[in-house]
Amino acid sequence: MSKLKPINFTRGVPAVESFPVEEISAAADAALKRHGGTILQYGPSPGFLPLREWLAQWQGVQVDQVLTGNGSLQLLEFLCLYLLQPGDVVFTESPTYDRTLTLLRRHQAQVVGIRLEDTGPDLNALEEALKQHRPKFFYIIPDFQNPAGVTCSGEKRRRIVQLAEQYDFLLVEDAPYRPLRYRGFEEPSLFRLAPQRTLHMSSFSKLIGPGPRLGFMMGEAELIAKVAKVAEDTYISPNYLAHGIAYEWCRRGLLQPHIQKLKALYSPRLDACLTAIDEYLPGAQTIRPDGGFFISITLPEGVKTTEVRAAAKRHQLNLADGLAFFPNGGGERFLRLPYCALTPDEIDEGIRRLAAIVKDVSRSNGH
Ligand code: PMP
Repeated sequence: MSKLKPINFTRGVPAVESFPVEEISAAADAALKRHGGTILQYGPSPGFLPLREWLAQWQGVQVDQVLTGNGSLQLLEFLCLYLLQPGDVVFTESPTYDRTLTLLRRHQAQVVGIRLEDTGPDLNALEEALKQHRPKFFYIIPDFQNPAGVTCSGEKRRRIVQLAEQYDFLLVEDAPYRPLRYRGFEEPSLFRLAPQRTLHMSSFSKLIGPGPRLGFMMGEAELIAKVAKVAEDTYISPNYLAHGIAYEWCRRGLLQPHIQKLKALYSPRLDACLTAIDEYLPGAQTIRPDGGFFISITLPEGVKTTEVRAAAKRHQLNLADGLAFFPNGGGERFLRLPYCALTPDEIDEGIRRLAAIVKDVSRSNGH
């Protein structure tokens, strides 16, 4: 029997071939020559000032509204350290990013999941939840959501902002996939709609790569300063060396052309996913995104992701369990497919294997 090649639809990592190694190497050399004394030294906790200035200009905000950190996830951790007491309520979408759930639970937050629909959070569920709880914040991933791939409609964004005003809670908008739109039109960010109510988080993990650990947060200067104080008390200053290199790369005007390259690399992978699903899993309940890293599928009635996952392993197909993405249970038939680190051929082969396994499990369960 020929040995099957393993295919990993597990974590949402960028493609290794997307990393701008040569450009970063040149930027590293220049950054050390220009800023060596600063980027090898401790510095102010909000981050390397030229980078914060560059980000502020890119995003159209003031410098004191920008905080950089070692990845966006840790900035969320700092926010929670500042804002949350045990038992505080936090709303998330359901499903949502599993590491955020782990982090919120570590802070002993009471996490209330708002059911996610194809067009964003279910607003009736949100309004119902608001009758029972006063959340400290609503953590939301409006663009090409992790794990579902959903993008929140403009109409829903505007209503969410109204509800945040009415019920007085903060919106924490996590938007690392927003720049990776392969087609269609961009919706306004929550931060644009309600800058005084929103903390917007983003990251270079999907733009340069996760290695430099460069994330940033934007919001009201006063709140940003509070979060920066937690950062200072944790690590004194973020990774100035990596951030100085990233700054030099951005300053050279390389970000936008690189985003275009990423789109050219990933967009055919998204198409390969959608084509393979149409061919091998016709009728599957699928989110069809216009960008980002993820497609998600709801498996047919009676077919559980855990069973499919166990069977898939025997066919060298590695899948993630859906359960960890759901704050309050559910998700037994949810399957996330991160496709960006796979070639179109691997995607086709992976979804072909998946379809055969789903059929097998369904048959053996008597469906
Ligand atoms: N938020 C979301 C929604 C993510 O998908 C990820 C990465 N998988 C992160 C945050 C973490 O980003 P960073 O590497 O900047 O910490």
